[in-house]
Amino acid sequence: MAILRFKALEMVASRDTDRVFPPADKISDYFGTDSFGLEQMKATISPETFKKVSQAINKGTKIDEVSANAVASAAKNWATSKGVTHYTHWFQPLTGATAEKHDSFFNVKSGIEELKGGALVQQEPDASSFPHGGIRSTFEARGYTAWDPSSPLFIWGRTLCIPSVFVSYTGEALDYKAPLLKAVEAVDKAATKVCQYFDRNVSRVTATLGCEQEYFVVDRALYMARPDLVMSGRTVFGHNPARGQQLDDHYFGSIPSRIYNFMKDFEIEALRLGIPVSTRHNEVAPSQFEVAPVFEDINVATDHNQLLMDVMNRVSERHDLKVLFHEKPFAGLNGNGKHNNWSLITNTGVNLFQPSSSARENLQFLVYLVNTIKAVHDNADLLRASIASAGNDHRLGANEAPPAIISTFIGSELSAVLDELESSGSIKVDKGDNMYMMLGIDKIPEIILDNTDRNRTSPFAFTGNKFEFRAVGGDENVAAPMTVLNLIVAEQLTTFGNDLEAELAKGTEKKIAVVNILRDYIKASKKIRFEGDNYSEDWQEEAAKRGLSNIKDTPRALDTYLSNDVVELYEKHGVLSRHELEARNEIKLENYIMKIQIEARVMGDLVMNHITPTAINYQNKLISTAKGLADLGIDNSETKNILTKVNSHIMSISSDVEAMIEERKRINKIEDSREKAIEYCDNIKNKYFDKIRDAVDDLELLIDDEDWPLAKYRELLFLR
Ligand code: ADP
Ligand code: MG
Repeated sequence: MAILRFKALEMVASRDTDRVFPPADKISDYFGTDSFGLEQMKATISPETFKKVSQAINKGTKIDEVSANAVASAAKNWATSKGVTHYTHWFQPLTGATAEKHDSFFNVKSGIEELKGGALVQQEPDASSFPHGGIRSTFEARGYTAWDPSSPLFIWGRTLCIPSVFVSYTGEALDYKAPLLKAVEAVDKAATKVCQYFDRNVSRVTATLGCEQEYFVVDRALYMARPDLVMSGRTVFGHNPARGQQLDDHYFGSIPSRIYNFMKDFEIEALRLGIPVSTRHNEVAPSQFEVAPVFEDINVATDHNQLLMDVMNRVSERHDLKVLFHEKPFAGLNGNGKHNNWSLITNTGVNLFQPSSSARENLQFLVYLVNTIKAVHDNADLLRASIASAGNDHRLGANEAPPAIISTFIGSELSAVLDELESSGSIKVDKGDNMYMMLGIDKIPEIILDNTDRNRTSPFAFTGNKFEFRAVGGDENVAAPMTVLNLIVAEQLTTFGNDLEAELAKGTEKKIAVVNILRDYIKASKKIRFEGDNYSEDWQEEAAKRGLSNIKDTPRALDTYLSNDVVELYEKHGVLSRHELEARNEIKLENYIMKIQIEARVMGDLVMNHITPTAINYQNKLISTAKGLADLGIDNSETKNILTKVNSHIMSISSDVEAMIEERKRINKIEDSREKAIEYCDNIKNKYFDKIRDAVDDLELLIDDEDWPLAKYRELLFLR
């Protein structure tokens, strides 16, 4: 293994940088050339058909067969003109990856390339190998994928990909996209209804999402020399380098050229696919970076994030690099998150989270702001559950990651506004030279337009004209948390609509009624607002005092999904049924168990096959040295001292690994997934992982560098 490490290091030293050249000088010349959405449809099908299709997409209704045939044929012509030979429904099963099954356009019978409307709209992949949590018994393995026309088709390699939902024959959702679409529909309905109190022209509200994706990049050869990275996506061992992120000099520093070329390359691919990537920069940790696209409709943004991760993975191979999205690839350094920037925008072009200079719009803004805060307050545990995964458990609450405590930050200006509204109902806020005028019914202030107040430690922060859910894991499909967010806001806005109707029925003036209701909500949701440092110890205590949950692990966090209130909420809005929620939890628990199992196995293998033999060899060297020194009558106490330390670590890791294996054997016999997952969490992960790791990391410092089998952190993180 040490040989592998040194070979890898040699390879790294001799790597060339492949310079990357864009296909054209201007991005506009190649942006979206590999994507087929409404714009391309418009150009290739008849105006009547286009009208029908776009209406069906807007209203979420069925596309008739004739129109489907027209779109299919146009898409096929477009794709084959670009050398594409196959097509596939592209979907997001609950494995977390994306799936596809390629069919050829070529029809042997007719002798030509074809794509019929039927094949565009619906397909039947062999679904038996995808997780279903007991929804499908294996003899009824059929499920089908159905085209989601609201997300553009795209070309990947030589295949036309058709974004699709994946459902069972009995109509149950087997993927991430189906519930998201339903939650988005629910929030559209509820938000539109509320908008109507302010502006009758609003007939549709779109949820938007901009996903900032964090990732690490390491050399491929070094990656291959780390079985733990290969198997589990994270390093289970590894001593912190002398120079970690203490200096924070990586943030916004210059990007190393090999990585810069990789970035340029994947950006070009992404842009061709119509993914509007726009910013790139270094993150806080060494070798950590971020890519952020411009926000889009939430469904498309979700597809694009999944696709972008695929693109980055595949492109990294060309550069002999490996990109890591895991939530915590390296202990002691920042992990990878996916900041979900979310807002609601009307068909009239108003961002409902944008404070404005008009009193009417500001009242509306406050309605959406306060309702979102209330939704987060009432459903904090559900939001927590939505981001739960084995990987994120390592990240949340560790090294500059939001804690597992859900709270929301809105900035001092808005806090003052809400406090004022809560206490008196009339508002006067002072800040520097600014005196915010009292407008409208002397209750709504003109809120500061440029809210630059930032708090980067908050898991759910208001950032000027949108909320940013930062606790989402770097490797997760964002559809799950975004389903929850849209669903809870839909529910809250529905409640608000009902409360308002009740007030109006009593004859209360509309604006007064709105303010009264908001005041109640502000009071009721106050404890979820936190403006301080979320990373501090104090917050843990303070949060506990406030009665906020701090659910540290996935198996326990997932319970919320099956509470009666949550099931009722999902069923009420038609997002998922109890049966579907149960199936999903089953899959998530199984996934959790599998991940911890793999990590435990990798640890065991590394200890037994690599670490212990290396340590014993080193021990032998020390023994002969000690003996030699003694023979010569020279003081060997220091050698003996090291020998004792090495020996005690060898003994402790060996016995811990053995005990962990025994424990796993016991736990593996447990039938119930929840119980088993909790056992894996408490009695494998929490009991052994850190203990074994500490000893191994100590050995890394004691043993001769020449013999150490695993690529070290400084090599993974600082070599260019
Ligand atoms: P920061 O790192 O300061 O949070 P970035 O510019 O990296 O800011 O990312 C901000 C993200 O938020 C981008 O993806 C941007 O497109 C997105 N965004 C901006 N406005 C909205 C909005 N109204 N709805 C959703 N996302 C938005
Ligand atoms: Mg951000």
